[in-house]
Amino acid sequence: MNAATPFLEVTEAIKALGGEDLERCMQCGTCTGVCPWNQVRYFSPRGIIRLAQFGLEGFEGEDLWRCVTCNNCVIHCPRGLRIIDILRSMRMMMNETGSIPPSLKGPLGSASSRGNPWSGDSGERTRWSEGLGVVPFEEGMETLFFTCCTQAYDARNQKAARALIRVLQTVGVDFGVLDDREQCCGDAVRKMGGEEVFQKLMKNNMGLFQEKGVRRILTASPHCFNAFSRDYSEFGGLYQVQHYTQLLHDAILKGRLTPCRSLGKKVTYHDPCYLGRHNGIYEPPRRVLQSIPGLELVEMERNRQNSLCCGGGGGGLWNEVPTEERFAILRVQEAMETGAEVIAAACPYCIIMFEDALKTLGKEEEVRVADIAELVLESLDGD
Ligand code: SF4
Repeated sequence: MNAATPFLEVTEAIKALGGEDLERCMQCGTCTGVCPWNQVRYFSPRGIIRLAQFGLEGFEGEDLWRCVTCNNCVIHCPRGLRIIDILRSMRMMMNETGSIPPSLKGPLGSASSRGNPWSGDSGERTRWSEGLGVVPFEEGMETLFFTCCTQAYDARNQKAARALIRVLQTVGVDFGVLDDREQCCGDAVRKMGGEEVFQKLMKNNMGLFQEKGVRRILTASPHCFNAFSRDYSEFGGLYQVQHYTQLLHDAILKGRLTPCRSLGKKVTYHDPCYLGRHNGIYEPPRRVLQSIPGLELVEMERNRQNSLCCGGGGGGLWNEVPTEERFAILRVQEAMETGAEVIAAACPYCIIMFEDALKTLGKEEEVRVADIAELVLESLDGD
């Protein structure tokens, strides 16, 4: 993709790489109107699509990496265009020429060489679960618990993973985990345009699933949930996939999980884009929170389908963004307006983004970010 490339060639390449909807765009601008970037600075998905329709002449490229794949444009587009796929295919083209932001080279390179975007040692992948009595997955077991890379390598998110394991054990779920051969689900890698690396990760994981006879996968991250239920199925990987909030909700309904200690806290819940707008899962996390005695659930002004993205998806977690342009700061301010003492999260990316935002605002002492599994555990044993 350079100045000399004929525009028809460029548009055909974008379409061939997954942006088939490119020419169906009628330039109404709805996507630009609903894009969260326009709350902090001008950004136009419509404008990028227009340039792509005309061979990307004059396209500078850096704007392409802003999209955090929150899906708000997709659910509002009157033509139902898969806008994220159009932008993703353009990112794939830029990846081929090495034209990607320096901050994304690290996670993409690490995903390729180490199987995770965090530069974590692959031999340490399952260390987070040591001492918890977690067993290796074996054929015949009901459920595989798939570890998100962020929960495997980020100390804060390891705590959330450990809390979830203790809750699953209380419920009596028959589950196991993979060994250190497990690799990143590839969601963020694919959204950053690293298709080749994504397919390498996916083949590794699908091979392990086949070897172990995995049919049912439980995920802590909505990004893993989306990758297994949508991306892997494109390549023949068909699994029953469940997000942990769905499992906990089901366990509560069946009487297998009964939070009993009163927390005495006002809590607001943030809908992660990949659970909500991408997959329509809005109620189970809320029902789990409402089952906790003494927990008052309050809604932020923007919730469910209208929830404001944390800014972490599509590579946003690694992108360098000036403080005044971080959505997570707007979101924690919105959460604080409810009077909540706790922001409940159900996604490792959201936890990182919100804790970072609270730190930037100097509000860590006033509001805490907690994974839903951590709140459930507190209501079980008072930890
Ligand atoms: Fe094109 Fe859809 Fe955006 Fe309208 S909302 S400009 S049709 S992509």
